Amino acid sequence: MTSPMSRPLWIGTSWKMNKTLAEADTFIDELLTYRIPAGIQPFVLPSHTALARVRNRLPTNSPVLLGAQNAHWAAEGSWTGEISMRMAKDAGATLIEIGHSDRREHFGETDRIVALKVAAASAHHLIPLICVGEPLAVRDAGGAEDFVRVQVQAALSELAPAEIGRVIIAYEPVWAIGERGIRPTMEQIAPVMALINDVVGPEAGSARAVLYGGSVDPQNAAELLSVPHTDGLFVGRAAWAASGFIELLKVCAPRARAAASSTSYSRTLPQNADRQA
Ligand code: PEP
Repeated sequence: MTSPMSRPLWIGTSWKMNKTLAEADTFIDELLTYRIPAGIQPFVLPSHTALARVRNRLPTNSPVLLGAQNAHWAAEGSWTGEISMRMAKDAGATLIEIGHSDRREHFGETDRIVALKVAAASAHHLIPLICVGEPLAVRDAGGAEDFVRVQVQAALSELAPAEIGRVIIAYEPVWAIGERGIRPTMEQIAPVMALINDVVGPEAGSARAVLYGGSVDPQNAAELLSVPHTDGLFVGRAAWAASGFIELLKVCAPRARAAASSTSYSRTLPQNADRQA
């Protein structure tokens, strides 16, 4: 098993339903002025309309990984309004976000649908970025850990053991995300991060990571990263402006540098070298 310190720190953002093509260009151009710190694996999930545009705007050797915010499990067919995993990959995706609470709440994405999408993403050699998290009422009733355990087990249920070493799970408590999000305490998060780490198990592939997301900003990022089993942060509002994303990368750099100097890195991360976005 790879030691936790050998993993890169994943810091990324989903733009959700934001940004025209011109706004996407502005974000990328500003990000390109910043040297990505060693040890950080940055990622950006644009809207479907901006994905190929962003891919084309980034230099081919950019360390920034791109992803889609959703894709269908079917290979192709009559699924009006959807895109397939293959289409997402063709447009530049390496990651596929699956099961965000917006999709579970507003688009009927069940644990079964999440499992199908995770399997389809993996079959297309895309990295599933699976969002899990309990609503406030469940937490208040003391059921957060059981709720998240079921979500994670269901999401991984169609994968072979080796594929599980190539998934990212983002713990995003529903009550902590978005405009009405409540900033969590580390005590609230820590048991759930440990639980997810346990459920994913020791399979250590190229992209195994457990991230935290929900009301992350430059003020709380370092503390959140200190929670055991936290391999990175998945950020919404605070990273929608490139300046905010850069600020977060700066705050996370010391922790990433410590990890980078302690060990070697896998394919995505040249060792001990800052890299141009
Ligand atoms: C999210 O909605 O996935 C999220 C992390 O949002 P925010 O950072 O804005 O709370």
